[in-house]
Amino acid sequence: MPTFLRRLALWLGALALAVMAALTGPTAAQAAAPAWPTLGNGSTGANVTTAQYLLRHRGYSLTVDGQYGPGTTSVAKSFQSANGLGADGVIGPQTWGKLVVTLNAGANNDAVRALQTSLNKYGYGLSVDGAWGPATTSAVQSFQSRNGLAVDGIVGPATWQYLVGGSGGGTGNYRLIIGKSVLPRSEYDDPHHDYPAIDLPTVTGTTAYAITSGTVGHVGGNCGLGIGITADDGAYYLYCHLNSRSVGAGARVSAGQVLGYTGATGNVTGPHLHLEVRVNGANRCPQNMLLALYDGVTPPAPSALPATGCTY
Ligand SMILES: [Zn+2]
Repeated sequence: MPTFLRRLALWLGALALAVMAALTGPTAAQAAAPAWPTLGNGSTGANVTTAQYLLRHRGYSLTVDGQYGPGTTSVAKSFQSANGLGADGVIGPQTWGKLVVTLNAGANNDAVRALQTSLNKYGYGLSVDGAWGPATTSAVQSFQSRNGLAVDGIVGPATWQYLVGGSGGGTGNYRLIIGKSVLPRSEYDDPHHDYPAIDLPTVTGTTAYAITSGTVGHVGGNCGLGIGITADDGAYYLYCHLNSRSVGAGARVSAGQVLGYTGATGNVTGPHLHLEVRVNGANRCPQNMLLALYDGVTPPAPSALPATGCTY
């Protein structure tokens, strides 16, 4: 074969592989990294505390209280202007990219406080003292290993993305369906109107995560932009009223993979995430499962969840 034909054949082969990769998307073995969370006025919780420590590390003066109010908004705008970003005061993917710093063992600063705050979302129980000692090293290595990251003990952009983007709740092959810092524990035992399910009051745009591994189906109707997971544990998990879906019908997902963002589509009176757990087509009460995931302990099997007692 003439050289140019061989080159053409190789180029076409590479193109075909790239197209196939784009069509098939990530597999369970290489699950997508969690999305960077979007923080703005009214956001609360550990990710806000993390962002505030990182802004302080960058030389800005602000109160670190886990509450994203006018003070944090104004500092975020200054940081964005100084870094050539649109100054909207909302911390999204681009701002996170400029805000995070690569950290190594031995560092002692506010960025380490941000790191320790983020690790504590996952139950590491570190004191947030800004000093990276042996306990922080072992927490970083454990976190990297659990998330399939290179276990190098260095916190770079990829580790940061998993730290701030991950839901923070769960154990084994189960994850909490929204970030642990989004709602207090008391929201996870609420009964549902008329049939076993749960409604979690989330603002539009809250990241929704796969509760466990399985295969995705798209659902519509009253459910709005809905996602059903036919799970490996034998149950069916239905998420309703999403604002957008991040996974296609037929996609395989792993526990904790981003499914989409909550909203108010379908039959709703306001934005919330509706979850149902079905075993052999019959609804079970999801509350005990979600409470266990919130607490980071092994959840009951879906078939062990009650079929009554969670309605009003
Ligand atoms: Zn509902």
